[in-house]
Amino acid sequence: MIIILENHISEENTERIEKTLVSFGFQIHKSVGVERTIIGAVGVKPNFDTRNIRVMEGVADVYRITTPYKLAGRDFHEENTVINYKGVEIGGNKIVMMSGPCSVENEGQINRLAEIVAKSGAQILRGGAFKPRTSPYSFQGMGKEGLQLMRKAADNNNLLVVTEVMQNDQIDMIYKYTDIFQVGARNMQNFSMLKELGKVDKPILLKRGIAATLEELLMAAEYILSNGNPNVILCERGIRTFESYTRNTFDLSAIPVIHKKSHLPIIADPSHATGLRDQVPSMARAAVAAGADGLMIEIHDEPEKALSDGPQALLPVNYLQLISELQLIAQAIGRTL
Ligand code: PEP
Ligand code: MN
Repeated sequence: MIIILENHISEENTERIEKTLVSFGFQIHKSVGVERTIIGAVGVKPNFDTRNIRVMEGVADVYRITTPYKLAGRDFHEENTVINYKGVEIGGNKIVMMSGPCSVENEGQINRLAEIVAKSGAQILRGGAFKPRTSPYSFQGMGKEGLQLMRKAADNNNLLVVTEVMQNDQIDMIYKYTDIFQVGARNMQNFSMLKELGKVDKPILLKRGIAATLEELLMAAEYILSNGNPNVILCERGIRTFESYTRNTFDLSAIPVIHKKSHLPIIADPSHATGLRDQVPSMARAAVAAGADGLMIEIHDEPEKALSDGPQALLPVNYLQLISELQLIAQAIGRTL
């Protein structure tokens, strides 16, 4: 931590700041310049609140040098994390596709869509059985029956399953049917659930909250990692801004930023990021070009009848076309898809 003192700080205030730093357990290194004095404080703990120093009289600014996310950060883990689950690698050279409907709606629907997902060469079937809906009057998901249908459809097509968990008491039941637990944007800071998912031996797909900073996303991942589960996949799915022409604002820059700050894989979800079908392909292409380790894409063969998120679902024909475009982009940046 670097503490910059005010120009004409009194000796008394300087001493008080130094003593306070020592009392917090820091080793201090003072550098006195012509105009300014700077104190380097070594030994900052991950949970140290820098505001304790910032509020002191005579302090101009405080900068934290080390990151508070020790396990999610690259500082102590330089190599990329490559998750290997049942033979599917996430975070390696191959870009993984997690595709399927927003919600599992009935047996025919999930079977037809699973076939298309498999045909496209994707590895993972997505689909919600427990849905976080803005309105309590909207379709809330099929629950356990939806999980059973999705598991069967995935197994018949040699696919893995990713599905959302919304609360702690669903974990054991969903565990029986899923390969990857999805934590939705609205639950990114459901800390008690993150702790419980830290004890699970399956990968966790952690979506960025609608108003979460990337540091908050990495701290949420830290909850899972510090409770024992190393297999966390991050997901950029758009954030809330003042823009109204898109459902969310797709923060593409999150991808290179996360890659720099963290060793964890990051995928992108252009479906929820834009909310409209015609905007999904271009943002999917952009995400692959930006270095995403995977994509989550919603598809539906009868989107006008979909029980959730129909307007953002790609039709199978458009989805298959998109996949062939993404393959070219992947090849251009030395990856496969
Ligand atoms: C979903 O994947 O269907 C979903 C609800 O996503 P998000 O949490 O990103 O809104
Ligand atoms: Mn959806």
